[in-house]
Amino acid sequence: MSMTDELTLDVQALRAEFPVLGRKVHGGKALVYFDNAATTQTPKAVLDTWVDYFERYNANIHRGLHRLADEATQAYEHSRDTVREFVNAEDVREIIFTRGTTEAINLVAQSWGRSQLVEGDEILISRLEHHSNIVPWQMLAQEKGLTIRIIPVDERGELDMAAYRALFTPRTRLVCVAHVSNALGTVNPVSEMARIAHEHDARILVDGAQAVAHTRVDVQALDADFYAFSGHKLYGPTGVGVLYGRFSLLEAMPPWQGGGEMIKTVSLEEGTRFAEPPHRFEAGTPAIAEVIALERAIRWVTNLHFELLEDWEQRLLKHATERMKGIDGMRIIGEAPHKAAVISFVVDGAHSQDIGLLVDQFGVAIRTGHHCAQPLMHHYGLDATCRASFAAYNTLEEVDYFVDALQRVVTMVRD
Ligand code: PMP
Repeated sequence: MSMTDELTLDVQALRAEFPVLGRKVHGGKALVYFDNAATTQTPKAVLDTWVDYFERYNANIHRGLHRLADEATQAYEHSRDTVREFVNAEDVREIIFTRGTTEAINLVAQSWGRSQLVEGDEILISRLEHHSNIVPWQMLAQEKGLTIRIIPVDERGELDMAAYRALFTPRTRLVCVAHVSNALGTVNPVSEMARIAHEHDARILVDGAQAVAHTRVDVQALDADFYAFSGHKLYGPTGVGVLYGRFSLLEAMPPWQGGGEMIKTVSLEEGTRFAEPPHRFEAGTPAIAEVIALERAIRWVTNLHFELLEDWEQRLLKHATERMKGIDGMRIIGEAPHKAAVISFVVDGAHSQDIGLLVDQFGVAIRTGHHCAQPLMHHYGLDATCRASFAAYNTLEEVDYFVDALQRVVTMVRD
C-alpha cells in the first residue's frame, strides 16, 4: 500500500513478490497472466511457508507426541482459526479442510444430502453454476429421486430473482449458487438469496471459489449454511480447500469417508464412534503443508486490504471492458452491472480456441473453452468463450498490451 494522495495498491511492489511474473515466454515476451479465475499465482511468502514446513517440521498431525508432530499440529489448527476469522465463522469447528471447492461440495452432497434428502425433495441450482456445483447434485438426485430446478439467467448474465422466488415449493430443501460466476464474473445476490431460501425453510450452499480472493466474505452476514472455496484461487496452493458449514448442520451430519483421524474409538465388535466436526469430515492424512501455506496466503491477501483490492480490480475490469468494446466483431458475454474482474468474450466468425492460441503467442495467458459451465454456454448458444480474468498483480499496461494484441489477432482471423 502507498500512503501518498490516496490509498492504493502498490502493484509494482506486489508483483515483485511473484517470481513467475518475471517469466518470459515465446521468444522473450513478458508473461501477461490473465487466467486468474482458473488459478492465481503464488507469492514468495506462501512458497517459503510451504518449503519451511518440509525443511523444519514435516510430521503427521494430531496423533504424535513428539516435537515435530506438535508443531505441525499447531500450525495446521492455527490455519483453521485463520480461515474462521477470514470468513467470519462463529466457531472454528465450522471449518473443514478439503482438497478444494469440488470436494467440499461433494462432501455436502454425500453427507448432508444423502442423510437429509428424500425422494421428491427439490434442489434449486442456478444456470450459471460451475459443473462442480451441478454434477454432485445430479448424482445425488439420480440416487435418491430428487428433482433439480433451474434458476434462470437473463441476457446480461444475472439471475432472474423473480423466477427464483417462484421456484420454491414446500419440497424445496436446498439452493446451490455461486457467489461469483467463473464464466461471466456476475456477482450473485447471495445474501438476499439466503434470506429467501430461509423463509422457505431451505438451506443454501454458496460456491465461493471465485469470490474469496476478490471480496471480503462474511458467512454470518451472508447467512450461508455452507460456503466452499479453493486455496489455489486464493494465492495459495492446489490440493487444499475449505468447507464452512453451520455447526448445527455439521453436528447432525454423518461422515462421508471413513478412516483414521475421523474417529473417537474403533472396535471390531462394537463398531466405530465418530469424532465431532470438523475432524469427523477429515478422514486420513490431510494436505498438511498446503493447509499451512493456505494460512499464509490468507494473511497475504488480507494484508492487501479488500477495499483497495476490489477498487483496483474494478479499475482493470472497467479499462479492459471499455477498450475491448472498441474492437470490431468482438462481443463481451455477460454484462451484469455487478461483476468481478472477469471478461468472457467471443469473436464473430472465429473459434475461441484459435483466439486463445494466437493471443498466447503474444505472451498473454487467457482461458478458452466452456469453463466447466456448459449449461451457461448453451444458454448463450455457444460452445466456448475466451476469458480474461484479473488479479491484484495485474496492471493497466498489461490490459493495454492484451487489447492491442487481441485487436491484431481479430484483424488477422477475420481477414
Ligand atoms: N466453482 C467455481 C465457481 C470455480 O470457478 C471452480 C474452479 N474453476 C470450481 C468451483 C472448482 O474448484 P476446484 O477445481 O478447485 O475444486
